[in-house]
Amino acid sequence: FTVPALQNEPVLDYAPQSSERFKLKEAIKEAKAHVVDIPMFIGKEEIRTGKKMEIRPPHEHGHILGYYHEGDESHVTAAIDAALAAKQAWGDTTWETRAAIFLKAAELFAGPYRYKINAATMLGQSKNAYQAEIDAACEMIDFLRYNVAFMSEIYKQQPVSGKGVWNRTDYRPLEGFVYALTPFNFTAISGNLPASAAMMGNVIVWKPSENQVYAAAVIMEVFQKAGLPDGVINLINVDGPKAGEIIFSHREFAGLHFTGSTAVFQTIWKNIGNNINKYKSYPRIVGETGGKDFVVAHPSANPEVVSTALLRGAFEYQGQKCSAASRAYIHKSIWPAVKEKLLADLATVKVGTVEDFSNFVNAVISEKAFDRIATYIDNAKSSPEAEIIAGGTYDKSKGYFIDPTVIEVSDPHYVTMEEEIFGPVLSVYVYDDFEQILDVIDNTSIYALTGAVISQEREGVELALKKLRNAAGNFYINDKPTGAVVGQQPFGGARGSGTNDKSGSMLNLLRWVSPRTIKETF
Ligand code: GLU
Repeated sequence: FTVPALQNEPVLDYAPQSSERFKLKEAIKEAKAHVVDIPMFIGKEEIRTGKKMEIRPPHEHGHILGYYHEGDESHVTAAIDAALAAKQAWGDTTWETRAAIFLKAAELFAGPYRYKINAATMLGQSKNAYQAEIDAACEMIDFLRYNVAFMSEIYKQQPVSGKGVWNRTDYRPLEGFVYALTPFNFTAISGNLPASAAMMGNVIVWKPSENQVYAAAVIMEVFQKAGLPDGVINLINVDGPKAGEIIFSHREFAGLHFTGSTAVFQTIWKNIGNNINKYKSYPRIVGETGGKDFVVAHPSANPEVVSTALLRGAFEYQGQKCSAASRAYIHKSIWPAVKEKLLADLATVKVGTVEDFSNFVNAVISEKAFDRIATYIDNAKSSPEAEIIAGGTYDKSKGYFIDPTVIEVSDPHYVTMEEEIFGPVLSVYVYDDFEQILDVIDNTSIYALTGAVISQEREGVELALKKLRNAAGNFYINDKPTGAVVGQQPFGGARGSGTNDKSGSMLNLLRWVSPRTIKETF
C-alpha cells in the first residue's frame, strides 16, 4: 500500500470580497452568536461537572464565548482508565485503519471544518485570519497527512533476513498511555501532540492549555467525526499540577508529548524522575519548550530583508511563538537604514481585534501575560541600558493589547536580550564585530530553538552556520526565524528549548513506538 501523494495544504488568502472571507466572517458571526458549553471527553462520555470556567476572546474580554467544565482528580483517573480500556483494540488495528481515520480528519479540517477551526482559533486565541489559516488549517492538515506518510515509511523499515531465517520488526505502541500537554499558541500543535502518538497505536490523555480549550473542543469533534474510537484520545480540563500528580505517579504512564514552558517541563521531568521506580517502562519524554530566538545581520545584509524579518519574526501573533525573533544583533553600519525602515513599517501596523481583518497585531493571550509583558516594558523605560524606540504603550481596557515594542539596548546581556518574554517585544543590540557577536549570541540565553542570519556575503553565512551550530535547532538564512512548514522544515531545538524530536518529521513518530525484534528460523 502507498499513501496519497504529499503536498502542503495551500494557504487561503481571505482577500477582500472573496467567498472565503465571507465564509470565515460567517463562521465568526455564528461562533459569537452562541455561548458554547464544553464538556470533557472521556471514553464515550461527555462529562459536565458544573464547575464552569468562562472563555472570553483576549481582544474583547467583555464577551463570553462559552464555558468549559473543569474536572478534578477523579476525571484524570477516569481518563487514564478509559485510555487503557481502549488500548488493546486500538493497538490491534492495522496501520491502514489508523491512517484512514487521520487522513479523514485532515480532509474535514481542509473542507467542512476549515472555517470553524479558524474562527475558533481567531476568537479564542486572538489570531488574525492569516495566522489562524497557517496554523489551525494548513499546519494541522499537514501534520496529519505527512505523519501518515511517515508512519507508512516507518513500518516499511525491516531488518535483513537470510536463508532459513526471517527477521522482522514489530513497531509496537508504548505499553501504557501517553500524556499530551499542549500549548495555547498553536492549534495545530494542540491537535498534533495527541494525534501523532495516537497514530502510532497509542492511547492518550490530553490536557489542552486552559487558554485553548475553545479550539481544542473543535479538534476533538473532528477526530470523533473522522471515526476515532472512543477512549483513544481523552480530553480533560483539570488544573495542570493536580492532573500531573495522578498521571506521573501512574504505573502505566508511558510517555509525555509536551509543548509549553521550560519551567513546567523541568518540573515534570523531575517529577517523572522521582517516580521512576513506579513505572512499567522508562517513559518517553518529548518536549518543545521555550526560545529566545535571534536574528543577526551581517554588515553585508540588505536592510530591507533585515527589517522584514524583524517585523514579521517578532510581531506576528504578538510574538507569542516559541520561534519569535526576540533579540536582534545589527551591525552598526546598517543599523540606521534598518531602523528607519522598521520604524516606518511599524508606524503602519494596526493593532486591534481579529474581526477587523486589517489588524496585523491582536491581543496577547491573557491578563497574566499582559501584566508580565508590561512589566518588562516598564522596567526598560527606567533602565539606563535600554531605550524604547517604538511602542512601549499598552491598554487592557477592552482587550489585552500591547503595541509592538522595540527596545534598543546598550548591554547585549540586558534582561530582555536573555529572558523569553513571549510577547510583542523585540530587543536590538547594535554591534561592531561580527565574529565576536556570534560568540555573544551563542552564550546569551539558555535556549536554542530558532535563529536567523541575514547576509549577502557567503562568508557571513558560513561563519554563522559554524559558530552558531548549537545555538538553534532551526536555522534560517536570509529569512525570519518563524513559520516552519511541516515536511519542509522539521521543527525543534535543543538546550533549554527541548528534546529536539522534530515535530513534522519521522523522528518524532519514532518516539511513540517500542519496537520488538522477531527472529524466526525454519
Ligand atoms: N513551528 C512554529 C514556527 O516555526 C513555532 C511553534 C511554537 O511556537 O511552538 O513558527
